[in-house]
Amino acid sequence: MSWSRSRRFLGSRVLVWGSWIGLLAAVTAGLLQLRPHLNDAHIALAYLVVVLGGGARSGRALGLTLAGLAFGCFDWFFVPPYGTLAVDKPVDWIVLVAFLATSVIVTQLFERARHEADAARSARMRDSIVASISHDLRTPLTTIKALAHDLAAGGDDRAEMIEAEADRLTTLVGDLLDYSRINSGTMPLAIEANEAEDLLGAALQQVTGAASGRTINVGLDPIHPLLFGRFDFTQTLRVLVNLIENAIKYSPSDTPIDLSAKRDGPWLSFGVADRGYGVAEAERERIFDPFYRPEGVAADATGAGLGLSIARALAEAQGCSLEYAPRDGGGSVFTLRVPAIDVPAPATT
Ligand code: ADP
Repeated sequence: MSWSRSRRFLGSRVLVWGSWIGLLAAVTAGLLQLRPHLNDAHIALAYLVVVLGGGARSGRALGLTLAGLAFGCFDWFFVPPYGTLAVDKPVDWIVLVAFLATSVIVTQLFERARHEADAARSARMRDSIVASISHDLRTPLTTIKALAHDLAAGGDDRAEMIEAEADRLTTLVGDLLDYSRINSGTMPLAIEANEAEDLLGAALQQVTGAASGRTINVGLDPIHPLLFGRFDFTQTLRVLVNLIENAIKYSPSDTPIDLSAKRDGPWLSFGVADRGYGVAEAERERIFDPFYRPEGVAADATGAGLGLSIARALAEAQGCSLEYAPRDGGGSVFTLRVPAIDVPAPATT
């Protein structure tokens, strides 16, 4: 803050504090005129209005200062013997302490409510900034990609790189936009009954390209062959595909990937297991943080470290969960749990 701005800021604060302390003095003078007709409740209420007004308008520091001053005035002017801080009757102590406690507690509550409102406002602001920047970036990226495509057709090798980088940025911008949408609760979700087998089938189809030659085993629950759950098919497919692509990326190419679906109490649980290097214990929660990559993991051409954070946010937005666990015998298992639906057993004749 510049010197003149901080002076102006200080000046306005002194003015606000001065006004509220002046109001407290005026209320005290008014109450003093009426002292013979007033009891403790009238005085406590009049002072509380000033303390709470000051606290709500200017924050905890002013609220607590007004509470302390009002406590002193209450005791000095309205609790016998007048003109001293001494108190004759023990019951008057109770009134004074109750007044002080009420002022302090309500001032603190105001402060907390103010912080929560500020935090919610700044989260909303951050989401809308991300959303608008992402939107604005999309148009020039599309133009860059189109121009690079034309140049590549003319035989310029560097244009291919530009095109690939434009693609990478477009994916990142899309992911950022989605991440902010999911967190602000504006991602449209169609949560309905779906069958596990359909989801696994669609996921396998989508990863065919990336899987090139990898063995992917699918294990279905032998006890409950008909598995249904409640989830948004498209977004859950996206989560599962992301997990399978990660398993492909982070495990040796001669090891298989195991997909499974099974009933797990109230959940329908999907597992994606690999025989890769796993995730170190200290990193197991952090891999779900946006942009987090464990040390030594090189940034590759496809991801920006948003995949798992989007996957978990998408799962949680639909009342599901996504967890990591080390796999027995080495590797990783990611488990996605969605609410299961009971399907009546087919009638036997
Ligand atoms: P990205 O793959 O773009 O880095 P993700 O959010 O998908 O971003 O993953 C974050 C990090 O979690 C990865 O960089 C990787 O270190 C780790 N990770 C994800 N899946 C696996 C896996 N199957 N095995 C080992 N590490 C993994």
